[in-house]
Amino acid sequence: MTPRLRLQPEAVGLGMTSQRVRDRLVERLREAGITDESVLNAIRTVPRHLFVDEALATRAYEDTALPIGHSQTISQPWVVARMTEALLQGGPKKVLEIGTGSGYQAAVLAALGLEVYTVERIGDLLRQARKRLRQLGMNVRSKHDDGRIGWPEHAPYDGILVTAAAPALVEALVQQLAVGGSLIAPVGGASSQSLVKLTRRADGGVDETVLAPVVFVPLLSGTLD
Ligand code: SAH
Repeated sequence: MTPRLRLQPEAVGLGMTSQRVRDRLVERLREAGITDESVLNAIRTVPRHLFVDEALATRAYEDTALPIGHSQTISQPWVVARMTEALLQGGPKKVLEIGTGSGYQAAVLAALGLEVYTVERIGDLLRQARKRLRQLGMNVRSKHDDGRIGWPEHAPYDGILVTAAAPALVEALVQQLAVGGSLIAPVGGASSQSLVKLTRRADGGVDETVLAPVVFVPLLSGTLD
């Protein structure tokens, strides 16, 4: 006998978070110019729907930023992919992220086998991110602090990702880069930002390139509970 009321997979969210839906996001990122297979694979593997509120889970595999509370957002998958791809070019082992937010970008980095350190200024977001990362068995070291000072105790880093925008690159972070390491950060104000990649040369100089126009929430000072 067919039950009269059958819940459609979409109705319980399963259809919208299935492997097929994730594969579709990966195809979309590929069409949008992401070529690093290890990055595409990490995006395919990490369950983005577990990094947003349940009410938004059905939208987790759209290529869009989503709210995570405290006026913050989980970045758009294309931006996560582009930043990660740029970071991997230097063959990093140990990386620092500023702006843990939901923990999704940190999870993508951990899925790539990197040694990940991440700093978040909003305690409530960090507690939720830690819980998710722990539940997924991901080994990420995190700290509640103003990330504009970096995390000097573990420096130098082979790569640093900043996931909030500032008017200029933060000098303390540049100082925590290893020789050959890269800092990838959005630079600009509320209306216009560019994703910038700075690489530290052996002769003490730096190379800077602009990767793409982006939109990030601002890098703010101090901490909040
Ligand atoms: N990488 C995150 C995106 C988070 S949005 C993710 O994958 O979900 C940017 C985050 O940067 C916010 O959580 C915000 O609170 C945090 N942030 C802003 N200024 C900061 C600072 N000075 N130090 C640390 N975190 C900061």
